[in-house]
Amino acid sequence: MYIDVLLELKNKQTDQAYTYHVPENLQKSIQIGKRVKVTFNHRDLEGFVLRITDTCDKELKILDIKSVVDEEIVLNEELLRVGNYIKETCLCSLSSAYAVMLPKALKASEKTNIGKKFQSTLVLNMEYDKAISLCSSEKQKEVIDFIQSKERISKKEGNALSSSSINTLLKKKIILEEQEEVYRLREKTIFEDKKKVLNEEQKNAYDEIVKSLDCFSKFLLYGVTGSGKTEIYMQVIEQVLKKKKTAIVLVPEISLTPQLVMHFKARFPDAVAVLHSHLSDGERYDEWRKIARGEVSIVVGARSAVFAPLQNLGIIIVDEEHSESFKQENNPRYNAIDVAEYRAELNGIPIVLGSATPTLERMAKSTKNLYRRLELKKRVNGQMLPICTCVDMAIEAKKGNFILSERLKIDIDAAISRNEQVILLLNRRGYSTTITCSNCGFTYKCPNCDITLTYHKTKNNLRCHYCGYTTFKKENCPECRAELNFYGLGTEKLEAFVKEEFPGVNVLRMDADTTAKKDSYEEILDKFRSGKYDILLGTQMISKGLDFPKVSVVGIINADATLNIPDFRSGERTFSLLCQAAGRAGRSNLIGNVILQTFQPDNYILKCVAEQNYEKFYQYEMNIRKKLKYSPFYYLVSLKVVSKDYEECSKEAGKVANYLKKNISSTSIVLGPTTANVFKVNNIYRFNIIVKYRFDHQLIPSLKELDKLFVMNSKVNLEIDMNPTKI
Ligand code: ADP
Ligand code: ZN
Repeated sequence: MYIDVLLELKNKQTDQAYTYHVPENLQKSIQIGKRVKVTFNHRDLEGFVLRITDTCDKELKILDIKSVVDEEIVLNEELLRVGNYIKETCLCSLSSAYAVMLPKALKASEKTNIGKKFQSTLVLNMEYDKAISLCSSEKQKEVIDFIQSKERISKKEGNALSSSSINTLLKKKIILEEQEEVYRLREKTIFEDKKKVLNEEQKNAYDEIVKSLDCFSKFLLYGVTGSGKTEIYMQVIEQVLKKKKTAIVLVPEISLTPQLVMHFKARFPDAVAVLHSHLSDGERYDEWRKIARGEVSIVVGARSAVFAPLQNLGIIIVDEEHSESFKQENNPRYNAIDVAEYRAELNGIPIVLGSATPTLERMAKSTKNLYRRLELKKRVNGQMLPICTCVDMAIEAKKGNFILSERLKIDIDAAISRNEQVILLLNRRGYSTTITCSNCGFTYKCPNCDITLTYHKTKNNLRCHYCGYTTFKKENCPECRAELNFYGLGTEKLEAFVKEEFPGVNVLRMDADTTAKKDSYEEILDKFRSGKYDILLGTQMISKGLDFPKVSVVGIINADATLNIPDFRSGERTFSLLCQAAGRAGRSNLIGNVILQTFQPDNYILKCVAEQNYEKFYQYEMNIRKKLKYSPFYYLVSLKVVSKDYEECSKEAGKVANYLKKNISSTSIVLGPTTANVFKVNNIYRFNIIVKYRFDHQLIPSLKELDKLFVMNSKVNLEIDMNPTKI
């Protein structure tokens, strides 16, 4: 028996499958998709078995494999195909595709000591009656009875019993000590979750999906915030489980709160596994095995949960479809929604994408019936969408209101006096974003990146939000000792300001700094939910999916922040972020009130947000995209040429652009090279090239050719991103 083994060789990004011979004694345990240990260049390496053959036509000397690593198959047939799909669509190596699909413990060639966890247990070593007859004391009989009632007990449980009796029984081999595999993730207490009666809109959407459960079909569930999409997902999944099939639910990492997970676990006891980035490697490995062994039938998770090895998949649901977190930003740059569609097609099942603000790409497809659009226009219980008002901050600034407008202050005051809650969104963490000298113009900048440092007052230091560089702030200008000026507003400063403005009011801050510790995110939300706090302020973390019934006022402190980022999607990103944030207000019987503070009150996107009018936004933005030849009218590829050496980087970027112009279709457009928005990060220079295309048969072969050239180049790297979310 011979096998082809895929080895991941560092510093060679190309795929290498090598043929090995399988000695007689290992043949029984060999299966495609398991890992084996082999010798390669005098080193021991692990690789995946991709092919099994009886003969080998190679002339070279074929080595024996050393051992078979896995008892169970790691990559089943479907996952093997998904890996190939990622390789083809993301232009990456097969081994990097498999590496991204698997938990750390199961990656080939990864040196880990993440293993299964075992606990000692006690079991009977014979029939119950015989065991009892061999007992020489009442205490021993108690032990036998206890074990019999539970089939097996952990050694810990045995501590409650007489230890001398247990020892005697063990010695006489009446009971045995066995190692039992256990899972690490502790189940928290389950709270109640009542199934709801669907309203008419929900019922229509539900019926449409359930009708299509046995065929590949794509749905766009376009429902305003608070329209009860989650309830539809859960009831559809109930039908899927009735068919003895399984389900994947993908949500953005940030919405994957223990609260959401608890809802699913309460509705489907013992059927849910969870995959997210806060799990330890061991916990992740355990959850993965539960899934692979068919012990659960629903997987709820963030991006990488799309690779969950569920058998007999019956539906894939993606909530908050517009979230950019479904796209992986480093190699392999896969989009979990594309992978989900591929798996849905392979399995002949529906995929449901839900959002209040769908991406233009998918909304456009739904107008061409490439997605079936299901609409939920009303909030459940017929609550109104919040009322939004734009406030011109240029006028406010003249009155001396730089941070909070008159209007927002009044509304906050009123809400608090009614014992309601307030959310304030500011998309910048830290205290001030720029510190400059009032005399010589000195500015604190990152030595490694092309960006100013942000001042964090709590730690009195300056930090780079790109590379993490940190330095302490001097009292005065380090160059000329004059006074320092602070510009730009961050969440820390907002917190200080709000506390000063509303003395006695309880304020919580949530941003990357206050949520760095495990569980701190949920702790903050619990505190806010308890009602002891009046104001929750923070970055976009607070805008997604949170459901607090007592929130009546949402203030967007700087609605312009995301608008001014030079990226063709910044309008769409702003619209979706602000609508989501606005959607946090008025989710129960209170009427929501949203204040948008802006220096551009006439901006069309902000007007659409104020009206909560997606259709208007969609028409406007589609027009711009068409004129400027952007997605969804054109497909995009982003190429980044990166290097520590500026000259080389610039030269190679020019070559890449020229190569593309010469080799791809003349109907495609090559833009650049230009320097990236943040030109230098961590001392690495970056040049961008953008390709826009509609149909281009020469494009993929040309990109692959370029990729090959750069694998050989040790000084300059090329990163290719197909259908990027950010350019
Ligand atoms: P969305 O995801 O569309 O923003 P949610 O699923 O969070 O909306 O639903 C908003 C709230 O309405 C939740 O608290 C949910 O439990 C509740 N809800 C959903 N459907 C119904 C229903 N048919 N009847 C009563 N309450 C519902
Ligand atoms: Zn930096």
